[in-house]
Amino acid sequence: MATRGATASGFDTSGRFAARAEANTWTCPFCSLLCDDLALDANDPALAATTCPRASTALAGLKLGDRAAVGAHIQGRPASLDAAITHAARLLASSRQPLFGGLATDVNGARALVKLAGQCGAICDHANGEPLALATRVLHDQGSWMVTLGEVAARAELVVCVGSDPAARHPRFWQRIDIARPGSPLRKVRFVGLKDDAALAQQRLRAVTTSAGDPADAASGDASEAGNAATATAEAGAAITSATAAAVASGHAAELDVQALASGADVFDTLQALALALRPRPPASLDPAWLTLAAELRASPYVCFVWEAGVLPRHGELAAAAVQSIVATLNQTTRAGSVALAGGDGAATAQQVHTWLTGLPLRTRLASEPGGRIEHDPIEHGANRLLTDRGCDALLWVSSITALAPPAAAAGLPTVVLGPPALAPADGANAPEVFIPVASPGLHHVGHLFRSDGIIAMPMQAPLNSTLPDVAEIARRIGAALTPAGGSA
Ligand code: SF4
Repeated sequence: MATRGATASGFDTSGRFAARAEANTWTCPFCSLLCDDLALDANDPALAATTCPRASTALAGLKLGDRAAVGAHIQGRPASLDAAITHAARLLASSRQPLFGGLATDVNGARALVKLAGQCGAICDHANGEPLALATRVLHDQGSWMVTLGEVAARAELVVCVGSDPAARHPRFWQRIDIARPGSPLRKVRFVGLKDDAALAQQRLRAVTTSAGDPADAASGDASEAGNAATATAEAGAAITSATAAAVASGHAAELDVQALASGADVFDTLQALALALRPRPPASLDPAWLTLAAELRASPYVCFVWEAGVLPRHGELAAAAVQSIVATLNQTTRAGSVALAGGDGAATAQQVHTWLTGLPLRTRLASEPGGRIEHDPIEHGANRLLTDRGCDALLWVSSITALAPPAAAAGLPTVVLGPPALAPADGANAPEVFIPVASPGLHHVGHLFRSDGIIAMPMQAPLNSTLPDVAEIARRIGAALTPAGGSA
């Protein structure tokens, strides 16, 4: 692993933006970090869990070796690709309100799906639509101070992780901000209101900064061992507990000071306490630990808050808004920003493409007739709600990055699945109406995916051979075959 090569991008002769990659470069598509410092062996497309447990599991789930020859299916029976496309087009044409869900695809696939959605008046929502909508609501309501991973790597002296350990679901987060390199400006990490185990979070972080450890080992390690590595202390008389670990990095230029505060506490309450501590005259009753953290934040030349919309509790937008308020306060006297870890499985890509093509984010009903009404509703047009309330009568489910099946709430709904061969129906009873196998971006075809920071579109490579069509091609062919209900497709 860990060979980095150059990647070039440009418009091909059909006007599509395409990536061309040199050998030995691979950008992992399996979470929103899109690590581009790895390599995948075409003869043995697997990744060790010690490199990244999430990517390792996703690759295994695609069953790349044994399902490659799977073809299209109609009602669970093998069918030609042409017949499956015609059947899918008829199903969408006869639907009064189709839903396009999943939406795990690259930029070209997302563009073609938005066009198809416009042809049949569909509502689009991503499989991770809930956290995406949460982050969008905060952006609408008060704006967000977002920074790129490169900015964090280059400037952050203090990182505050709110509500979760980023490495629990994004295993190479600390590597992505390059904390082990000599010259890294990072000196302090604070975990605030962790729901994950605080000692494990510290152990994962230590594993990155020391040559002995690995995040995957740490993730599966013994928490009590982590507790030994840390020096646990309790703030006398306070509901807040903290644990302090000093991790001396083998390659890191200086000692890294790691603390966890208020683990297990309500994340919004912890952020409220921190906001109060940052006031010119904080309440006298406030726990001193918050005053100490507030002083650290003010004294730091660059602070970055890291949060994950997907693990915030119900009404998590209140916590996300509190983070942005704290960042705004700090920016009056020092520099601060935030990184929202969301947008995996092509969610950030789907959101960006939908917004630039329609002027509105996902959860918008597109109009199939010229001059028709386009309607955005971040709550009523959520995929789970539509499926549960039967607010839609057909589903086009797209999952070309991981083998993610349609949600259980879609059972019984006429469904077209565009997915990897691993999603092919095993039996007729639970089969979707139509299944069409598609290639995966970043494995079988080149393309682009947007990273969690929503700014960087990463070129994806195609280390593996495949004769399967990509999502963009299938969406275009369904669109070409689409005729109004009653017509011949
Ligand atoms: S952290 Fe995410 S992008 Fe990086 S290797 Fe793991 S799954 Fe892939």
